[in-house]
Amino acid sequence: MARVALVTGGTRGIGAAISTALKQAGYKVAANYGGNDEAANAFKAETGIPVYKFDVSDPAACEAGIKTVASELGPIDILVNNAGITRDVTFHRMTFEQWSAVMRTNLDSMFTCTRPVIEGMRERGFGRIIIISSINGQKGQMGQANYSAAKAGVIGFAKALAQENASRGVTVNVIAPGYIATEMVKAVPEEILKTKVLPLIPVGRLGEAEEIARGVLFLAADDAGFVTGSTLTMNGGQYMT
Ligand code: NDP
Repeated sequence: MARVALVTGGTRGIGAAISTALKQAGYKVAANYGGNDEAANAFKAETGIPVYKFDVSDPAACEAGIKTVASELGPIDILVNNAGITRDVTFHRMTFEQWSAVMRTNLDSMFTCTRPVIEGMRERGFGRIIIISSINGQKGQMGQANYSAAKAGVIGFAKALAQENASRGVTVNVIAPGYIATEMVKAVPEEILKTKVLPLIPVGRLGEAEEIARGVLFLAADDAGFVTGSTLTMNGGQYMT
């Protein structure tokens, strides 16, 4: 029986590449999204992957959405906590709303999406939780105090959860991407990318979403059970941990 994977924010960018790679590898995949129906429907039409709209920052919506996924595809074996947003501004100008929007989507979602699946994984003796953090959670980034805090927070979450669940066949790992060519990064002006970002990346280019998906495939596999509590840094050499 194919294992079931849920990818939050799985309809665009890195998440779309993860959903697609998991499907190609034989998993039954559900792709969650937040509000962009047009992108989600186009993704569904192109890949045949079912899409599920619920806000990862809303506990009741996640509980209901994940129940629907499980009833349609089966219990979730692999959860990829990928959905994320930015609200970049230097901290001395940041509003509480900019702070808390990022906390809700990027950090509260660790609770709202993981809590509904963890007991079932423990009972069945198998689970893979893979969290997409960021290089900026590891090294900090000017203009991203909110995002850096949330992305660092998920690493602590993963280590605690990994310890709690290691004996039950459930692994919890993080991937920390560097700059990946998605809409989030394409929003950065071309000139800034060329003069300020690329010179920092030893491999000399942005990463591709498919490269992050390869990391997810490795961590999701049945035979990756000895890897838990780790952070896989995938950033073209920009920051070596
Ligand atoms: P995109 O903006 O391209 O896609 C984000 C996805 O998340 C979309 O599917 C979006 O849904 C979904 N999403 C956003 N908010 C919510 C929400 N509240 N509820 C449900 N779904 C939501 O992002 P990326 O692919 O660039 O980023 C994916 C992850 O990787 C994020 O966690 C990001 O922080 C991280 N990352 C990205 C890097 C990069 O260079 N791109 C670098 C390091 C980390 P919808 O389409 O409906 O809006």
